[in-house]
Amino acid sequence: MQRSTIVYCGLAIALLSTGIIADSKADQPKWVLAIHGGAGFIPENVADEQRQAYEDGIRKSMETGVRLLEDGRPAIDVVVEVVAILEDNPIFNAGKGAVFTAAGGHELDASLMEGHTLQTGAVAGVTRIKNPIRAARAVMDHTRHVLLTADGADHFALSSGCEQVPQSYFYTSDLFDELNAILKERGQPVLTEPAYGLPVEAKAAIGGRKPGNTVGCVVLDEQGHLAAGTSTGGLTAKMAGRVGDTPIVGAGTYADSVCAVSGTGVGEQYIRYTIARKVAWLVESGQSVEKAAAHCLNDLLNPNEGGIIAVTANGDVTTQWNTTSMPRAIADSSGRREVAIWGRE
Ligand code: ASP
Repeated sequence: MQRSTIVYCGLAIALLSTGIIADSKADQPKWVLAIHGGAGFIPENVADEQRQAYEDGIRKSMETGVRLLEDGRPAIDVVVEVVAILEDNPIFNAGKGAVFTAAGGHELDASLMEGHTLQTGAVAGVTRIKNPIRAARAVMDHTRHVLLTADGADHFALSSGCEQVPQSYFYTSDLFDELNAILKERGQPVLTEPAYGLPVEAKAAIGGRKPGNTVGCVVLDEQGHLAAGTSTGGLTAKMAGRVGDTPIVGAGTYADSVCAVSGTGVGEQYIRYTIARKVAWLVESGQSVEKAAAHCLNDLLNPNEGGIIAVTANGDVTTQWNTTSMPRAIADSSGRREVAIWGRE
C-alpha cells in the first residue's frame, strides 16, 4: 500500500471514530421495499370505500413484503410475492381485474429482474395464467430466454406449474363498461359481452375503478441485492396483440447492482425512452435517484403519462408520478411504513 493511501485510511478511521464524518453504511437501512399500484387518475374526492380499497390492497402487499424481508428472503422472491398479491386483487389492473383489449379479451404482461445477476424473465400477452409474475419467474429460472409471448408463454407457464384460470376469471364489470365507452368514442360497435361470454359472477364485480392501476415492486434486500418486477393488463381497448412496456426489460422494469426500477404509464412512451434503464443509468452516472426519476417524468415524458418507483443499492428510494394519483408504499428496516395515493414526496 502506498504511503499516501495509508495516511488517508488512517485519517478516515480517525474521523469516523470521532463522528466528524458519518458512516453512510451505518445510516443506511438494511432493506428497503417500494410498491406501486399504477399511475392513474383517481380523483381526490373518490368515495371513502374506494380509497380504503386501494390503501388496504397496497398495505396488504407491503406487509407481506416486510415479513419476507424480515425473514431474510432474497429481493427477487419478495418482488414475486408482493406482485402476486396485487395481481389477485381486482382493484388493480394486473391478474384478476386486468383491463379489456378492444376485442373484449384480456392479454397480460409481466416481467422481473434481479440486479446482481442481471437474470430476468418476462411474459407478454398471456391469457390464462392466474399470476403472470410467476410465469415471468419461470421464464427466468427455467429457460435460456428472457421473454416469451402469447400461446407459447401460456403453454410454458402451465407446464412449469403456474395456475391456470379461464379468461372470465379476469372479468370486472366496470372495465367492460370502460371498454365500451372507448369503442363508442371511436365510433366502433360496442360489445354486448366479453369475447368469452358474460361470467355468472359478473354482477358481483366491484365498480367505480379508473384506468391505470398496473402494479410494481422494487426491493433492496439485506444482502445488498436489488430486484424489480411489474405486472399489468395493459391499456383499456388496446389492440389485440399489443405489447406495452411492462414486459420489456429496460422500459417498464430494470434492475442492476446500482438501482432497481418499476414503471407505470403509457407503455409506448416508456419503450421509446427506455425509461427504467435510463433511471438506473443516470444513478450509475452519479445522479440522485430522485433527480433521475424526475428527469424522466418531467423532461422526457409528457404530463399525465406515468410514474416511477426506484431504489438504489445505498437504500435511497423514490416514488414519483405525473398523473393525478399513484397508490404506493415505502417500507424499510428502520420501521418506515408509508401508504399513500396522492400528494408529492
Ligand atoms: N404501462 C402499462 C402499459 O402500457 C400500463 C400502465 O402502467 O398503466 O401496458
